[in-house]
Amino acid sequence: MLTEQQKERLYKQQFRLVGSHSVVKICFWTKECVRNKGKVCYKQHFYGVNCGNCLEMSPVITCNQRCKHCWRDTSVFSSGWQGEADDPKEIIKGCIEARKKLLVGFKGNDKIDLEKFDNYLIPDHAAISLTGEPTFYPRLPELVDSFFDDFNFKTVFLVTNGTVPEMLKKFGKESKRFPTNIYLSLEAYDEGSYKRFTCPVKEGLWNKVNESMKHLNTVKDKTRTILRITAIKGFNMNKAEKFVKFVELMQPEHIEVKGYGFLGYSRKRMKEENVPKWEEVQEFAENLSKRCGYKVTAKHEPSNVVQLSKEKML
Ligand code: SF4
Repeated sequence: MLTEQQKERLYKQQFRLVGSHSVVKICFWTKECVRNKGKVCYKQHFYGVNCGNCLEMSPVITCNQRCKHCWRDTSVFSSGWQGEADDPKEIIKGCIEARKKLLVGFKGNDKIDLEKFDNYLIPDHAAISLTGEPTFYPRLPELVDSFFDDFNFKTVFLVTNGTVPEMLKKFGKESKRFPTNIYLSLEAYDEGSYKRFTCPVKEGLWNKVNESMKHLNTVKDKTRTILRITAIKGFNMNKAEKFVKFVELMQPEHIEVKGYGFLGYSRKRMKEENVPKWEEVQEFAENLSKRCGYKVTAKHEPSNVVQLSKEKML
């Protein structure tokens, strides 16, 4: 459970708690979009989601990994789900309301296009990626269905660290729908580096991550699967060959190579030198693409990210 002090800190950081275990916040890129700066996030460029209508949330605040590069306060962690699970529909309703309240403050800005603004108040894309490990939430499949069926969302993205394959296997069984995109985030290149850098809170999680990659290989016709590798200088950027086995195991539709950012609490654990330059991210992506037969299909320099896609995708 969060302490009052941790709740206060989250509030000051513009997070809004919803119900007993969910959280919502306005993403930097949604703000840029709403401020009419003509900028959108790389996911709009790569996958056509509506950045201005994005609801960034998570039904879980804790995580079972304490990754050194994570912007989150990793002193908030747990090995799995604890307590009562709120109703999915109530969570979404609460998130939409909290998001609206956070956005209304922007109305005073004279650069805002009021017509567009009213449209931005109605989210149609969910990014279940804000913080914590969303696959802890026991009613996640229902939550995904509810976004689509009860709130007419067009797209729903899920980002997971892969440590709960049991939950990923429930999509299509305990839900009608799959998320539009399922991202599996990975920085480590073997069990040793996983333990050293990702600092899992209990034994056996590395095997779970591998089990998730294997499972995602079997549902590629139901959802867009993405292996997202955070490129960290001085840790994994000279290990491209070590990631090939994960690409073969998961056979993702896309790989995203995203440069680490010196942000949030990670500044207490990492150095600015760990942030790769744009050229270095591209070089690492090229290196990986040569080794696993994927091609570079998209780039977004402001987000320091390169997308690789399977040969057949061209
Ligand atoms: S999809 Fe992701 S990056 Fe784009 S606006 Fe939503 S949370 Fe931000």
